[in-house]
Amino acid sequence: MKFFVEIQDARQLANVIAALKIIDPQAEVTEEHYDLRLIVEYSSNFWVRIWAPDLPEDENLWEMQDQDIFDPRYQESDYPKRLKELIRLGIISLLGKRFDRKPIWGTLSAVRPTKIFHHLRQRGFSVAETRQKLLTIYALTPEITDLLIEIGTRQEKFFQPARTVSLYIGIPFCPSRCRYCSFAAVSLETHHHLVKGFLEALHLEIAATRQLIREHGFQVESVYIGGGTPTSLNLADFAELLQAVQGSLVSEHTREFTVEAGRPETIDADKIQAMKNAGVTRVCVNPQTMKDETLQLIGRRHSVAQFIQAVMMVEQMSHFIVNMDLILGLPGENGADFLQSCQQVLQLKPENITIHTLAPKRAAAWHKDFAALDLTQEQDIGKAWNEALSMLRRENYFPYYIYRQRSILAEQANIGLARPETENIYNIQMMEERETILGLGGGAITKWVFGSDYQVLRLQNPKCPATYHRDIGKLIVKKAQQTRLLLG
Ligand code: SF4
Repeated sequence: MKFFVEIQDARQLANVIAALKIIDPQAEVTEEHYDLRLIVEYSSNFWVRIWAPDLPEDENLWEMQDQDIFDPRYQESDYPKRLKELIRLGIISLLGKRFDRKPIWGTLSAVRPTKIFHHLRQRGFSVAETRQKLLTIYALTPEITDLLIEIGTRQEKFFQPARTVSLYIGIPFCPSRCRYCSFAAVSLETHHHLVKGFLEALHLEIAATRQLIREHGFQVESVYIGGGTPTSLNLADFAELLQAVQGSLVSEHTREFTVEAGRPETIDADKIQAMKNAGVTRVCVNPQTMKDETLQLIGRRHSVAQFIQAVMMVEQMSHFIVNMDLILGLPGENGADFLQSCQQVLQLKPENITIHTLAPKRAAAWHKDFAALDLTQEQDIGKAWNEALSMLRRENYFPYYIYRQRSILAEQANIGLARPETENIYNIQMMEERETILGLGGGAITKWVFGSDYQVLRLQNPKCPATYHRDIGKLIVKKAQQTRLLLG
């Protein structure tokens, strides 16, 4: 739909557009040939009125004088955000009613919905008060509200007052590129010549990070080697990397050490042994689906049987916590196929299961073909997502982190579930941004978290391994300076 928007301050326009897109992802704001005129009015004392003069009188107006924000537990820094939230609430309430649309995530369009829960709790609101606000100010459905409260409450115990940091190490290589992939990863088939230079740079960054940790007295709480597929490195490189991480970055404060071994065909007994030697505690072995036809279609180079074999080997040789990723909404699969994959994965008894919903992104190889793909219908996806959650709960898995992505199918989310006491700390810290994450390697994002309100400053390493190699010197200096400035 096309909207003509009259608004007193153009700086709110982006916020208005974001709210319109919640109701209609194709929504546009234009000055001519529009379908509906909207007048957005507000005042600094948190009065907001949304008016659509061309609609019938009994459904053309939404108006609210917010009283909640005058609660003394809020701070002045919350005021600008609240005004935005009220404008969004007005737009989705007025248009949602008109177009019979009740967005399950209410006014939220951000990636990290649980941050709202933590923010309100930090201001001193009880869980019951927070629940009420999620329902009324953010207009979440009761189901999503309860889910966020469950996850947020579970996460609270992981927020530490100490000077802890977590580390992410990105290995941007994979045996081949999956068709849906939008991560910072290149295929070893075409980019093998970049591995040597990349690893040289990474070892320099590991040494520099060790210095930084010592200088600032940081305690490394968790380490996550992801990518890409770290296990696609050859054994000598892989073992050397793990030893460097273990020797330079892991300490007695480190509570977990994860390695992504996402592609089962890259795992063998020697690499499992190398991980054991380096004190790894958790690995991810990802089937994505338990249907061989789909695996072929999405460009994975392994079969279901290979995946099961790899998991068995890990189980026999180690006591690692095992995570398995599944994707809901893969082309050619309906909700029933996905639930069948869930059931099969459950039989393997991993400690963690992560459910991703397909998000057709521009960086994915087949982005252009998405319109032509037989994608599972929205309702079917929503139903399967809920059923999968219930199925996993019955088997003693509980949700512990959640995030959304742009263009995700059927308004769903990605959600991590864990058996009790096996939650991945890195995933929580990275998602909730309560702890600084130092990112090393290809495409890794450093997030400095500072100040009493947990402000975040981000810096991403180059995704291209060659650029990373070329720029590593400058990058190390920049990160050291920024760390001193923000956390020194
Ligand atoms: S294994 Fe993961 S990172 Fe590598 S290409 Fe496939 S989806 Fe991308």
